[in-house]
Amino acid sequence: MNKIIKIFGQIVAANIHYHPQRVLSLLNAAYAVSQLVVKYFPDQKLLPHQKYAAAICNNVIRQPLKDAQDTAVVNIFLPCELLHAMDIAPQFVEGLAGYLNGAGAEKAFIDFAEHSGIPKTYCSYHKTLLGAALSGVLPKPSFVVNTTLACDANNLTFRTLADYWKIPRFTIDVPNEYNDDTVEYVAHQFRAMVAFIEDVADKKLDMERLKTAIRSENRSLSMYRAYFKELSSKFMPNNLTSEMYKLFFTHILLGTQQAEHYFKLLLYDVQNAAPSKDEIRILWAHTLPYWQPSIAKVFNFSSKYQLLSCDLNFDYLIDMDEDHPYQSMAQKLLLNTMGGCTERRAQKLLDMAISLHADGAIYFNHWGCKKTLGGAVLTKEMLEEQDIPVLMLDGDGCDRNNVNDGQMLTRLQAFLEILEGSK
Ligand code: SF4
Repeated sequence: MNKIIKIFGQIVAANIHYHPQRVLSLLNAAYAVSQLVVKYFPDQKLLPHQKYAAAICNNVIRQPLKDAQDTAVVNIFLPCELLHAMDIAPQFVEGLAGYLNGAGAEKAFIDFAEHSGIPKTYCSYHKTLLGAALSGVLPKPSFVVNTTLACDANNLTFRTLADYWKIPRFTIDVPNEYNDDTVEYVAHQFRAMVAFIEDVADKKLDMERLKTAIRSENRSLSMYRAYFKELSSKFMPNNLTSEMYKLFFTHILLGTQQAEHYFKLLLYDVQNAAPSKDEIRILWAHTLPYWQPSIAKVFNFSSKYQLLSCDLNFDYLIDMDEDHPYQSMAQKLLLNTMGGCTERRAQKLLDMAISLHADGAIYFNHWGCKKTLGGAVLTKEMLEEQDIPVLMLDGDGCDRNNVNDGQMLTRLQAFLEILEGSK
């Protein structure tokens, strides 16, 4: 770990119990500095869409830390079009936890959460968020909204947060089955969610603004699908952090001008990328350990290995219907590849592997993500039946104290050598 980041993490740990406000000020200062760095001194190896993402994502995380008024803590799968139409800034679990990890501070927050009674086996993204809230560092938002999609941690985490902050919470219950009844069941909850937000935030939803957000989202998705089509025959250098930044735009920022601009740059970059040659093309399932130098060194800006996409970045690519926004949001949840049976997620990974001409896939078993861990063997079997080799890589996307770096790297290198040998 970078020496400065290590020292910063130690300062956070030393202050978290008795001076949470001091920790918040330090985090705000650190993110303000990194905002200047990514804006004025970006890594010149980054493509335009990657530089843009670094600046926007920093701001998205920083804003609710500076001023928590009109903010809501959400989970990554919550469709945020309604929030954007009502000028409510979302703060989401994986994003915030990732940034706290970037500041070298996740250990202090994870320790705090575990000492507060959160189990060690819990997802480390959630443990980091919980530690930040329960320690008093994270400012109290206006309310909490979450879905039950994919992640069993959602119910416990968001209930704990709302109880701790004594703020209102709204949960969208997402059944496993997709049919007319479940679409109406979830759509009905979105209507109730509007009433909830109008009441709590004392704002009225302007339907025209919601339609504007949906139109913007559809333009973004159209460019994103075109990007994947181009990528199938192109080589475009990628890096683990940029692939994680992409999660902001494919999820909580969809429907915003920033997301639309990002997808415009992304499409431009792939259109100007070199044709695919002899590189090893890799598809990734689940989040990425972008903070792990050994793994990052293999993929980041590599001319040999093309990191195509992580599957969370294509969990739902279907247009919304502006005339039926609540049904569209319901479909977005019910048809998301992270929900329903495991075959659905595996099938999407397989379809994308075929269309993007992937040579292999890495299935990242992030510690504590039971949904992902439970689907590992079935996914591997389904892909390998179609001659897509799969490496199951055990690791942790957030907690740097919870990995066996040497073992991971050895297994990764061995897998890549096999792929190279069979090219
Ligand atoms: S990694 Fe898995 S358990 Fe953790 S927040 Fe994401 S979906 Fe939930």
